[in-house]
Amino acid sequence: MPGPRLLRGSADETLAAELVEGFNAASDTDAAAVERIKTDILRLASHELRTPLTVLNGYLSLLRAGFFGSLSESVDRVMQILERRTAEMNALVNDMLVAARVADPQAPTEAETLDLRILVRDAADSVAPRASGRHTLRVELPGEAVPARVDADRILLAVRNILDNALKYSPSGGEVRCSVDAADGWARVRVTDHGLGIAPDDREKLFTRFGRVLTPANSHIPGIGLGLYFSREAARRYGGDVALVDGEEGGGSTFELSLPLAH
Ligand code: ADP
Repeated sequence: MPGPRLLRGSADETLAAELVEGFNAASDTDAAAVERIKTDILRLASHELRTPLTVLNGYLSLLRAGFFGSLSESVDRVMQILERRTAEMNALVNDMLVAARVADPQAPTEAETLDLRILVRDAADSVAPRASGRHTLRVELPGEAVPARVDADRILLAVRNILDNALKYSPSGGEVRCSVDAADGWARVRVTDHGLGIAPDDREKLFTRFGRVLTPANSHIPGIGLGLYFSREAARRYGGDVALVDGEEGGGSTFELSLPLAH
């Protein structure tokens, strides 16, 4: 009996067949080929997931707007779970799409000069609903504009990833502080949490593709290990970087995204 098909009737079936061929052709040592295949899988999976997700998002919005009548208390509780889980899927699929794009050397680089204070404020507003009642999200912005020449979408996503992680990996709550400053030709966005922290030996692994550090304390937290990889790649594209600048296991973390100041 044939096994279940993942890509029923999809226009991407040819790509899927190419992927299988690619897998068969690539030897273990052919790192570049393996990387290319990973990128194709990311692109394929994220495209395939986007359509059903759009339908889910649409129906959830209609339900929330009362289009199908008012929700009883118990249905409302279920709705909240569905909304939270769907938001997580949206974020994952988005990350996958962007990571596939970042890995594609042909992807166009767009840049405009923008004020990082506005971008950071937007990023904080968009992650705020994911903060639990135990978190306090504090944003500290300077009085003067902090101009950087970047692609707004990519850097917004990068900052959002870092903020999202700060909330996600501090399950007992506490303050998550996000500050922006400008000095010596560099703009710096720093995000500090008081969460699970990271052991020194694991620091570089976090920035690799699919690099997750699993410990008994964080293994229940969903993720695929693309957020920091993407964030660093996005910052480096514009001459900046993302690094873990402070923290230890159990003692919280501080991540810094730096970008050259624009004139
Ligand atoms: P994901 O969160 O999807 O696993 P990321 O690339 O964003 O992927 O993060 C990679 C890994 O880095 C996470 O799996 C986690 O182990 C660790 N990490 C990231 N941010 C934090 C943080 N603020 N505190 C503790 N660990 C973190």
